[in-house]
Amino acid sequence: MSDQVRIFDTTLRDGEQSPGINLSGKEKVEIAQQLAAMGVDVIEAGFPINSQSEFEAVSAVAANTKGPVICALARMSSKDIDRAWESIREAQRSRVHVFIATSPIHMEKKLHMNPDEVYAAVVEGVERSAGYTTDVEFSAEDATRSDPEFLVKIYQAAIKAGATTCNVPDTVGYALPHEYADLFRYLIDNIEGADDVVWSTHTHQDLGLAVANALAGVRAGARQVEGAMNAIGERAGNCSVEEVIMAIQTRGASMGNVYTGADTKQIVRTSRLVSALTGYQVPPNKAIVGANAFAHEAGIHQHGVLMERTTYEIMDATSVGWESNRIVLGKHSGRHAFSKTLGDLGYELNEEELGRAWTRFRDLVDRKIEMTEADLVALVTDEMSTTPDAYVLESFQVRGGTHANPTAKVRVRMGEVVSEESAEGDGMIDAACGAIKRAVGIDCRLVSFKVAAVTPGTDAVGDVSVQVEVEGARYTGRGVSTDVVEASARAFLNAVNRATGVGAHKPADIAPSF
Ligand code: MN
Repeated sequence: MSDQVRIFDTTLRDGEQSPGINLSGKEKVEIAQQLAAMGVDVIEAGFPINSQSEFEAVSAVAANTKGPVICALARMSSKDIDRAWESIREAQRSRVHVFIATSPIHMEKKLHMNPDEVYAAVVEGVERSAGYTTDVEFSAEDATRSDPEFLVKIYQAAIKAGATTCNVPDTVGYALPHEYADLFRYLIDNIEGADDVVWSTHTHQDLGLAVANALAGVRAGARQVEGAMNAIGERAGNCSVEEVIMAIQTRGASMGNVYTGADTKQIVRTSRLVSALTGYQVPPNKAIVGANAFAHEAGIHQHGVLMERTTYEIMDATSVGWESNRIVLGKHSGRHAFSKTLGDLGYELNEEELGRAWTRFRDLVDRKIEMTEADLVALVTDEMSTTPDAYVLESFQVRGGTHANPTAKVRVRMGEVVSEESAEGDGMIDAACGAIKRAVGIDCRLVSFKVAAVTPGTDAVGDVSVQVEVEGARYTGRGVSTDVVEASARAFLNAVNRATGVGAHKPADIAPSF
């Protein structure tokens, strides 16, 4: 058995199932390319049967991402499988991932199928997938609440039908580490040909055990770990990819000398990009990628770290790419330096996008003297989510204070159409959102609002994430500016753009729950 643990990143599929995340095809490609730079082995790009735009987004990832295997998810139906294959056939290497639930509760209440019917569906679905590609993954949804003897039969059948990766999902985050390890050992010991396939973990955070369970699986023979960046996902989220990579990097020797192929220095950049494009901010105390993950507040710790880093740090901040608070550009930087720095950061912008980003940059350095790498990433990802046919905030004005009613006036452009509106509100942000609502003529409601500073200081770039509800569905939006009201207005409009489907896809009609 090889000691390399493959990293299967499902940020773009299971991670994207978080409420309110609706990534456009372009944003999915951007994230996929950064995941490739980070050296993940497999990228699950989406669930193509879900919608036309999801199909197009997965196809775009397949055609534009070099390096990792590109994977598409399908249920055990010929329609799903054909669509999945079609979306990824352009990839350098492609994988079809088929799943079906095997727990009594799922088979009975959700699928309305008996175990024999599920068995037959597995054989048929895996065979059909194997007709397209030699790289087929099979998942028994809710495996940890399934009858282990039935699982032996099911995985055995999947392997015979051509599955090359067998995933054992803890779909609802129910397993404990020792139970999860026991399940892998039991399956591997009792299935013929188990050593010829790769066993995979898929764990969830409902009890906060996703990483612990994944590592327990690795100890028991799993050689692929599935997870999402920043642990995003439905409910409490997926297994954190960055935590698994760094746990293996730091403690792999204690787990049978396992290792991954990841370039750990790309972790912080990947985390930032995912946070920026999903609108899901990273908590400051999050392991590895939280702002405080390597900060030492307590005096005694600071003293210890200054004397010798390893007294209180088990990892070096630079090993995960925490150097991005350094200043890269300022007031006197020219367009050439700007474009070169973006290139170094891995962005490929066309002339039009570069022009817009440059205008925003000039505007920002007028208000903020120095720009760090983190500021630039925030600015460019903000600008990237703007498409030519989207609503654009041309200008805004707010008035408020202790004795004045907060009022806002906005000018919003969509293509050739410009609309100007004003509104009053409880505060300036409320007034600005109210004016935008009028200008775009869409009935929407702000349901959550979060503000964070990209870098410290009173001239910091404010990073605002909002969730907006339109016709019962939630959309995430994000905006950055040194002015928090402007950042809020941009975030609100960004969410409206997603809701109107400009370059983004609508929430899942059929969400795979696994
Ligand atoms: Mn899942």
